[in-house]
Amino acid sequence: MALGLGHDFISKRLLIAGVVASVVPDLDVLAFRLGIPYASEFGHRGFSHSLMFALVIAVVGARLARSLRSAPKRSFWFLFLAVASHGMLDAFTNGGLGIAFLWPFSDGRFFAPIRPIEVSPIGLSRFLSLRGMSVLWSEVQWVWLPSLSAAVVAVAFRHYRALTLRSTGLPQKARQTGYLERWASKSAERPRKP
Ligand SMILES: [Zn+2]
Repeated sequence: MALGLGHDFISKRLLIAGVVASVVPDLDVLAFRLGIPYASEFGHRGFSHSLMFALVIAVVGARLARSLRSAPKRSFWFLFLAVASHGMLDAFTNGGLGIAFLWPFSDGRFFAPIRPIEVSPIGLSRFLSLRGMSVLWSEVQWVWLPSLSAAVVAVAFRHYRALTLRSTGLPQKARQTGYLERWASKSAERPRKP
């Protein structure tokens, strides 16, 4: 439902790009296969989980905004949120190494002060022998899905805010975008079921 509501605001293509972008950081599990150690800045939870990486993806997304059928600013923030929320959620897991948020300025690994998310019940050595697949699976459950929900909530929130603005008087900017007018005319056109 939230997806449907936010449809005008976040284009289908941008939404798909966001879903893909929120998963991309974990392609770094390939590092295990390549023999790159976990603790390396190019290992799992290294550079691809950094805020810099999120920034780069967001800038690329903003430049591709036209193909994403979206405005550059909207593409930028949506994709930044999608990628950055991945690292943030990983930081709340209770296993593995921390997140290299500040790469390339620091290869320090960071965790959140509380870590309630169960990352994996099995030991590190077994996990290494499985080349990160088990961690990948737990991240599917604990990180990818919440990242996705976070994006959906953001869409729903922006839509709700737009509706609130509508009832309290439109600010200049909302008027300029024409978003609310389009939304309003669309819902008026929609045929009612008897
Ligand atoms: Zn991850």
